[in-house]
Amino acid sequence: MNAPIQLQDRFHQVQLEPKDYRDGVASFWCPGCGHNGVLTSLLRGLSEIGVDPQNLVSISGIGCSSRLPYFVRSYKMHTLHGRAGPVATGTQLARPDLAVVVTGGDGDGFSIGGGHMPHMARKNVNMTYILMDNHVYGLTKGQVSPTSQQIMKTSTTPYGGLEEPMDPILYMLTYGATYVAQAFAGNVKLASQLIKEGMEHKGFAFINLLSHCPTFNEIDTAKTFKSSCEQLDVGHDVTDLDAAMHAVNAAKREGRLPTGLLYKAQRPTLDERMAELVTRVGGHKDYDLRKVIDLSRP
Ligand code: SF4
Ligand code: MG
Repeated sequence: MNAPIQLQDRFHQVQLEPKDYRDGVASFWCPGCGHNGVLTSLLRGLSEIGVDPQNLVSISGIGCSSRLPYFVRSYKMHTLHGRAGPVATGTQLARPDLAVVVTGGDGDGFSIGGGHMPHMARKNVNMTYILMDNHVYGLTKGQVSPTSQQIMKTSTTPYGGLEEPMDPILYMLTYGATYVAQAFAGNVKLASQLIKEGMEHKGFAFINLLSHCPTFNEIDTAKTFKSSCEQLDVGHDVTDLDAAMHAVNAAKREGRLPTGLLYKAQRPTLDERMAELVTRVGGHKDYDLRKVIDLSRP
């Protein structure tokens, strides 16, 4: 029996320019939207990793950012609000030989879809999750999101907010993501590098891209995001979880946002564990789930 084709075998097999990964659909983001930087970074990362568009699946939920799959040459699914993660998990388990990329916003991922995030991380699903974090709900015209600053005045918080913002990076480090990184969406060089490395990583890769919304967020502008970002020290140990947590907390105390690769670890992925289980119960490399179900029969 031939060995199953692994996702990582799919990389560096085609030579395509970033523009070759661009679908023909015209962008419908506002002029100056930070999401354009995310798209440019993703296209460049895909080109550098050399993945065949036929082996690429782009999945999103709902929101301005979740429109991104329209613009990428790939198989694609625009799913329900907050549900990109479970759909991507099922896709990856069914076809572990495909590269699965989720893109979505802070509200989609950490409010409506918040219940799914820790489980993708702890299960170490072999996929890349790019959060397009603009600290606001854009598509529904500017309400506070889970990452909005407390002082932000919006249509739903006309006197400013009452809640502390959450930190997606600390959240992902806590729940066991095996690749955690952050960049300003306008820094295409760094963002595309992190996307490439995140896709090459075997396991759940979470990349937080700080992406300004000039239409509905007057606080977190491109200028403030850019000036708040600070590259991690060259000596930062990416294998040290405590060091990653410390770097984030230390930066936050000084009003800064650490950028670069914060943490990277290796442990079996969910599909590897599934394949091992299926083999153990007498199945083949394909997921013969009937064999697994048979385990529970008397
Ligand atoms: Fe971008 Fe904001 Fe416009 Fe949505 S509303 S497209 S996030 S600038
Ligand atoms: Mg948002």
